[in-house]
Amino acid sequence: MAIPMLDLKGQYKKIKPEIDAAIQQVLDNTNFINGKEVTEFEVKLAEYLNSRYVIACANGTDALQIAMMALELKPGDEVIVPAFTYAATAEVVGLLGLVPVLVDVDPKTFNIKVEDIEPSITDKTKAIVPVHLFGQISDMERIMEIAGRYNLYVIEDNAQALGAKYTYKDGSEIYSGIIGHIGCTSFFPTKNLGCYGDGGAIFTQDKELASKIRMVTDHGQKVKYFHDIIGCNSRLDTIQAAILNVKLTHLNEYSAARYGFAQRYKQLLKGVDGIIVPEESENSTHVYHQFTIQVKGRRDELKQYLAENGITSTIYYPMSLNKQRAFGKISEIRVPLNNSEYLADQVLSLPMHTELKDEDQVTICKAISDFYKL
Ligand SMILES: *Cc1c(COP(=O)(O)O)cnc(C)c1O
Repeated sequence: MAIPMLDLKGQYKKIKPEIDAAIQQVLDNTNFINGKEVTEFEVKLAEYLNSRYVIACANGTDALQIAMMALELKPGDEVIVPAFTYAATAEVVGLLGLVPVLVDVDPKTFNIKVEDIEPSITDKTKAIVPVHLFGQISDMERIMEIAGRYNLYVIEDNAQALGAKYTYKDGSEIYSGIIGHIGCTSFFPTKNLGCYGDGGAIFTQDKELASKIRMVTDHGQKVKYFHDIIGCNSRLDTIQAAILNVKLTHLNEYSAARYGFAQRYKQLLKGVDGIIVPEESENSTHVYHQFTIQVKGRRDELKQYLAENGITSTIYYPMSLNKQRAFGKISEIRVPLNNSEYLADQVLSLPMHTELKDEDQVTICKAISDFYKL
């Protein structure tokens, strides 16, 4: 049996009675669309994050699209996006006829390189989308400062960092996703707070924007059958909301477990020369959606060697967006994207999930160390 990247079954088994009861309740009520569990989840997540407004939707990609629709971004408007991210972030920009302006990332954090933002701004720029990649928050205080000066919106792609906390210079703390004008997240099963299908949510602290976002998710209507704007249909299923209500109560344990496994990886990989382990930034906690190492050469060989030794590893992401065929024609690039390009050749994510076993971590790290002795 290979060591997997994930163990959703192991996690489910531990909370099976709670989950099964929650699902059964929805079946008994047969309130599959907009059941009370959906509102309950929105309220609970808002309380958890200390966010004024939480609007659930169908998935994380929709969340990003709805954010841009609610901000009334128009075709031709430019949106600044890191070139090293999951494609969904830039895809919705293209889908809405907006222009993704690709900037580089910082190789230490994998997050948007703040120095690249100002040189990429023109009078068409309307928004910045920092992606909190692999579980750590981007340098939001500086990003918000630049956005303020140029009058830009900030949409946080928080699909990978839900539950992480940011510390401002003055020492105050805030959860990821509620720092920018809008925050977006995904409840895809493999995310830190994952449901058992698709799901997503949008956060904002602005009352008017919240009302607009809710309208967009519901066919542009506030009153049923009276449509004021063009929206879409993007809902969180009641069954998924019921599951999330249970799992939200475990999110802190899950984040702590991931953090503990990450520290153990770092300890076990100490002294292995060929790799760089992830660094933690000063102003953000890390919820380790992924534990991603940088392999200085022979990355694909190492991955192959691990596979031969029964260890799964994954490359997130093998190609930066500037090299992707889909984005070549529609994106603009005004800064060098060297870090994004070399990270695509160097990154390797190791198994990271709430059920990781100590002995598996030992096996994984021994195999990596053995590879460099070959
Ligand atoms: C998962 C993810 C998304 C998209 O979420 P879906 O729910 O799969 O649509 C967007 N951005 C990032 C960074 C993600 O990891």
